[in-house]
Amino acid sequence: MICMNHLKVGHYINFGLARGLGSIAYATTAFSIGLFKMALMAIAISVFGVGLYVAMWGDRKIGCFKCRNSNELFTPTFMQYNMRMHLLSTRYLKCPHCKTRTWRKKVMTKEC
Ligand SMILES: [Zn+2]
Repeated sequence: MICMNHLKVGHYINFGLARGLGSIAYATTAFSIGLFKMALMAIAISVFGVGLYVAMWGDRKIGCFKCRNSNELFTPTFMQYNMRMHLLSTRYLKCPHCKTRTWRKKVMTKEC
C-alpha cells in the first residue's frame, strides 16, 4: 500500500531490481526443482530396471524347456530366454543338444 500511495501522489518508483531479483529467484527455484525431478526420475528408472532384471532372471530359472527332437530338458541362457521371439510361455529357442530351433513350451518338472 505504501508503494501505491507513492504512485498516486506521483512519485516515480523503479521496479527494475525487484523484477530482476524475482526472475532470478524463479529461475533458481525452477532449476533446483528440475534437478530434484531428474534425480527422482533416475532413482525410479533404476529401481524399475533392477526389478525388471530380477523378474526376467527369476522367470528363466523357474521350469525348463523340453526339446521335441531329442527329448532333452534344458534351461536357456539369459539372452536366449529374453531376446528371442516369445508368446506367453512358448519361446523360439535353440536346443543345446541337437542345435535345432523350434517353438518350445515351458514345462514344470522336478528334473530341471
Ligand atoms: Zn534337442
